[in-house]
Amino acid sequence: MAKYTIKNDIDECIGCAACAAICSNWEMVEVNGDEKAKPLKTEIDDSELEDNKEAAESCPVEAIHIVDKETGKKII
Ligand code: SF4
Repeated sequence: MAKYTIKNDIDECIGCAACAAICSNWEMVEVNGDEKAKPLKTEIDDSELEDNKEAAESCPVEAIHIVDKETGKKII
C-alpha cells in the first residue's frame, strides 16, 4: 500500500527537467506551451521514496513535495 503522496506545484516548475533525469517517476509534458514536470505516480511506497526524494532535492524551485500519508508530515 502506498505510504506517501507526491505533490508538485506545476506553476512553480521552470521545466529544467532535473527531476526527470534523476527519477523515472517523473516525465516532462507540455502544458500551455511550457515544459512542465509531472509524476507518473502520485502515490508511492518505501521502495520508491529515495528516488523521488532525490528528484525533489534536485528541484531548484522546490516545486516537489512528499507527504507521509499516515502522519500528514511533509518529508520534503
Ligand atoms: S526539477 Fe523542479 S523545476 Fe525542474 S522540471 Fe522538475 S519540478 Fe520542474
